[in-house]
Amino acid sequence: MSAVGGVIRSDIAALAAYHVQDAAGYIKLDAMENPFALPETLRDGLAKQLSNTAINRYPDPACAALTTALRSAMGIPKELDILHGNGSDEIIQMLALACAKPGAKLLSVEPAFVMFKMIATFCRMTYVGVPLRAADFRLDADAMLAAITEHQPVLTFLAYPNNPTGNLFEREDVRRIIRASPGLVVIDEAYFAFSSQSFLDEISQFPNAVLMRTVSKLGLAGVRLGVLIGRHAWLTEVDKVRLPYNINSFTQTAATFLLENIGEFIAQTKVLVAERTAMAANLGRLFARFPGTLCFHSEANFILIRVPDAAAVFAALKARKILVKNTSQSHTLMQDTLRITIGSPAENVAFLTALTSILESQYA
Ligand SMILES: *Cc1c(COP(=O)(O)O)cnc(C)c1O
Repeated sequence: MSAVGGVIRSDIAALAAYHVQDAAGYIKLDAMENPFALPETLRDGLAKQLSNTAINRYPDPACAALTTALRSAMGIPKELDILHGNGSDEIIQMLALACAKPGAKLLSVEPAFVMFKMIATFCRMTYVGVPLRAADFRLDADAMLAAITEHQPVLTFLAYPNNPTGNLFEREDVRRIIRASPGLVVIDEAYFAFSSQSFLDEISQFPNAVLMRTVSKLGLAGVRLGVLIGRHAWLTEVDKVRLPYNINSFTQTAATFLLENIGEFIAQTKVLVAERTAMAANLGRLFARFPGTLCFHSEANFILIRVPDAAAVFAALKARKILVKNTSQSHTLMQDTLRITIGSPAENVAFLTALTSILESQYA
């Protein structure tokens, strides 16, 4: 056995690292990024703020200015606490670390955001995934409730809307899951800006639910900032596994300034929601011509589609310098699916034009 193999945990050695496609030179519709650059009107102000940042000092551990900006931008009620993460990915990891008693289980749906399962593995938790309904990816509430009874998960993650499927679950089903859960239920609202549906005003009614948001999908993916919102009793415990100064000074400065100008990003989001509506209509018209194709309803900034040979369509798009996400291998329910991030109007036209000619040549 090699030195490395003898030292690294076997469950870690068995993992594939989170893979990010090389995107240089491509129209990038693979990672749910906002396609728009930082608005011109904010650039000088941001530069000034960043150059005044005291980088000789450790960051503010309490993120005081950022907390004020977040509370105001996201309308977070006074009675709820906030915990900051280096992206919501780090918050998922903090939650898992804090709850990973020996034998503890982490529950979610399948397909779900891949980091739920990866982080469960990192923290030696047992991952339980309950399949969504095959036809339309709706939540199978009875199966979820049965899994909760059987597995008694300490943590349950529900993305609302769900990634990679894009749909919102029935609110009453989410409530039933929270009520039935012996552990903590985390509602991941990474795509809130595109769905306008939230549990923020309900969360304090439940003793065992917290909510997660991120600025990534809003146009600030490079800043790396996520927040956990919930009762003081939960957040003080999770805060104990947070590394000191996890939110660096540049992130605090930039996010504070940009959240004070959140209107600019909301405006971009509105364009993307209109583009999503147009994309769904255009795909609907296109797919009516080709049997075996399907477009799933989305409340996020991406649309999941099914095509007869997703690998071939993915490759043909890539040859035309358009990068999407081939989600076909991620779960048996995801066979022959591609996840398309909504881009700028010009990028969406380029995608539709390319997809049209690819399907026409494949079906000819
Ligand atoms: C993108 C995404 C995240 C990750 O957000 P970061 O704040 O960038 O780490 C979390 N949850 C879901 C469901 C996502 O799709």
